[in-house]
Amino acid sequence: MSTARLTIDLGALADNWRTLDSFTRCETAAVVKANGYGLDAGQVGRALAMAGARQFFVAAAEEGAALRRALGPGPVISVFSGHCAGDAELIRDNDLVPMLNSVDQMLRHVEGLPGHPFGIQLDSGMNRLGMEPAEWGALRDIALGQNPTLIMSHLACADEPAHPMNAQQLQAFREMTDGLDVPRSLAATGGLLLGPDYHFDLCRPGVGLYGGHPFEDALAVVTLDLPVIQIRDVAPGETVGYSNTWTAQRPSRIATVAAGYADGLIRAMGARAVTFSGDSVCPIVGRVSMDLITIDVTDLDHDPEVLTLLNDRQTVDDIAEAAGTIGYEILTSIGLRYMRRYIG
Ligand SMILES: *Cc1c(COP(=O)(O)O)cnc(C)c1O
Repeated sequence: MSTARLTIDLGALADNWRTLDSFTRCETAAVVKANGYGLDAGQVGRALAMAGARQFFVAAAEEGAALRRALGPGPVISVFSGHCAGDAELIRDNDLVPMLNSVDQMLRHVEGLPGHPFGIQLDSGMNRLGMEPAEWGALRDIALGQNPTLIMSHLACADEPAHPMNAQQLQAFREMTDGLDVPRSLAATGGLLLGPDYHFDLCRPGVGLYGGHPFEDALAVVTLDLPVIQIRDVAPGETVGYSNTWTAQRPSRIATVAAGYADGLIRAMGARAVTFSGDSVCPIVGRVSMDLITIDVTDLDHDPEVLTLLNDRQTVDDIAEAAGTIGYEILTSIGLRYMRRYIG
């Protein structure tokens, strides 16, 4: 084994979906954009469909087409970016449901694909996607006449339960949608965990399914094992890696493993992350380089063949914090060089 091995536990993924689903009385969908948060939308989508998910969300129509090939007919596949120019055939042929974000998209949709199902995305304050309240006010009756299947909006600060933006967006969403006879959706993972006021008819978690913050009780879905390709003795005063950032203070044994920032192991995480050999912690020393990382294994009583970077003790969020980013970015940066194994 000379490339790192990424193990994706589809059983843990399905359990995370079931647990989130059990927190609500509404339907629970699954967000599988960005190729299933880097874990393969087809594998992830099939596992979640078997767990009971009947609705899926992707970012772009192209992703929806790939997911349809993996899932076959049946599950609803919705597209957050809506109906973009040139998308009509993809939407029609793959039976996708665009979440229309503007008057322009609405016109494009009803002219290009009359009678084809669609949903509506409203902006409740995030100012990223969706119709503004005034735009919605003007279009509302016409849009409702075309029977939208879902009205949705998205929370900007749901991972901070005490943030006043949550209640503010909830109120804005209610003002735009109360009394309408159309299913509604406001919550992603963070919103789902804020409680029933935020659930409406459908929740659409993404990151929590994959074991990420803010679903702190999630099961770990990814394990990353790095093969050791060389081990050497380093004398006190010798340095390790680019720019000599680490100097041995004692006679040390340094293992070099085959993975680096080209595999999505962000260089900035540097020495703030650790690796594991069984229960023992082995610190990263020196710079993370493109294909290699150096690790201090002096305290082990054996020479390891593998060191584990991601497991249930050090999650994508821990690595992210070490690198000054978020778990989402670690997941979606996972490299293509890994040997992947799907279990469960
Ligand atoms: C990405 C996304 C989600 C899922 O968010 P998570 O925080 O990963 O649960 C839901 N809705 C929209 C509009 C999104 O862009």
